[in-house]
Amino acid sequence: MLVVGSGVAGTIAAVSVARKGVHTILIERNNFPGGTAVTGLHCFICGLYVNDTNMPKNPINKGIVREVCSQLKALAPEKKVMRIGKVYVLPYSRQDLVSVFRSLIKKEKQDLEVLYNTQAVSVRTEQNTIAAVRVRGPKGVFNIMPRAVIDCSGHGVIIRLSGTKHQVSSLQQRQLAGYIFRVKGLKGRDNMAAVKVPYYLAQAYAEKKIPLYLKFTTFTPVDNIDEGLFKISIPPARDSIQLAKKDALVVHRYLCKVMPLFRDSYIFDTSSELLVREGTRLCGEYTLSANDVINARKFPDGTVKNAWPIELWDQKKGPQYRYLDHGDYYEIPVRCLKSSEISNLFCAGRCISVSQEALGSTRVMGTCMSLGERAGCEAVRMVNG
Ligand SMILES: Cc1cc2nc3c(=O)[nH]c(=O)nc-3n(C[C@H](O)[C@H](O)[C@H](O)COP(=O)(O)OP(=O)(O)OC[C@H]3O[C@@H](n4cnc5c(N)ncnc54)[C@H](O)[C@@H]3O)c2cc1C
Repeated sequence: MLVVGSGVAGTIAAVSVARKGVHTILIERNNFPGGTAVTGLHCFICGLYVNDTNMPKNPINKGIVREVCSQLKALAPEKKVMRIGKVYVLPYSRQDLVSVFRSLIKKEKQDLEVLYNTQAVSVRTEQNTIAAVRVRGPKGVFNIMPRAVIDCSGHGVIIRLSGTKHQVSSLQQRQLAGYIFRVKGLKGRDNMAAVKVPYYLAQAYAEKKIPLYLKFTTFTPVDNIDEGLFKISIPPARDSIQLAKKDALVVHRYLCKVMPLFRDSYIFDTSSELLVREGTRLCGEYTLSANDVINARKFPDGTVKNAWPIELWDQKKGPQYRYLDHGDYYEIPVRCLKSSEISNLFCAGRCISVSQEALGSTRVMGTCMSLGERAGCEAVRMVNG
């Protein structure tokens, strides 16, 4: 089995396949596992719990995702499930997530081979089957000829290279991308800062001091009292990390002037890449829709449960949220993880077969991990005939 991409979906997919005794190669272009969960400076795993009145005890999905959560808890017992608005999230540290992933991978060393700094560059198909994936890495350029491939690359690299049917929104329609930076040196704690930041930035936009997309910036205080995390929005057409860095400086400088909390603060960490919300997605055997999500639809082949709202980052209106009924959840059918054209192609994570709106709910990390495991199981089932 070949798994492409060692983000949250790919790492769990590869571990689940190797646990079933199938020899697995996991390729990753970075030199660490975790993908956006690490490069994005995120601090909360979303999509793990139902939005009930009671504090959830366990993730909604069973399986490896629960092992990940309990190992994170063992490493940082102080990081407890918390409620933000109407949803529950699990705080985590990136270092802990990387070490949990590394240890899950290491336990499978007999059947799981990980090639870091290695990229998939082309795909050869024969009779509606992927025959070979060409990869480039420290070991040179060579072909891998897998029985099945699971595309967990986030942006659907194998889906695109194989030429199977896929969907991608136009640049005008596509959701805003993100860029995250952390600041240190805050003056005390302002419990209203998360509300004041958008208020001041709305004023700055009204006075034509910043472009519209920077008005959608969010601020979250973090564990250390003098630190905070900003998430700025970037239009998909503005595809440059250098420009995102400039935007971050514009936002930070402005807030330093108008909010005493930030006056002596400084940027000390930034996401290492632009964080893309929406890329290439498979057109699979079924495409999950916004109605399926909002109406909490269950399917005979429902495989992963999710209660995360549809979080749509619209270029003109900013974030728009649509919630499921309290305590309810929907299911993602296994057909969303299977190509309808290429018999040995599966996918998990951000590039599964969902509509643009449904993706606003399915892309969160808790859900992507469970999707990884389910795609792994399906691919093994196919390989074992
Ligand atoms: C701005 C922003 C904020 C977010 N905040 C949160 C949050 O707070 N909580 C939350 O739960 N979710 C959040 N998300 C969503 C979440 O981070 C991602 O959707 C999720 O991590 C996707 O996981 P993945 O495994 O599908 O893909 P990725 O994390 O993108 O992993 C894909 C992996 O594939 C590798 N790869 C790509 N191409 C190749 C190739 N050709 N060859 C080899 N390897 C390749 C990449 O290096 C990467 O490691 C946020 C998303 C954005 C954009």
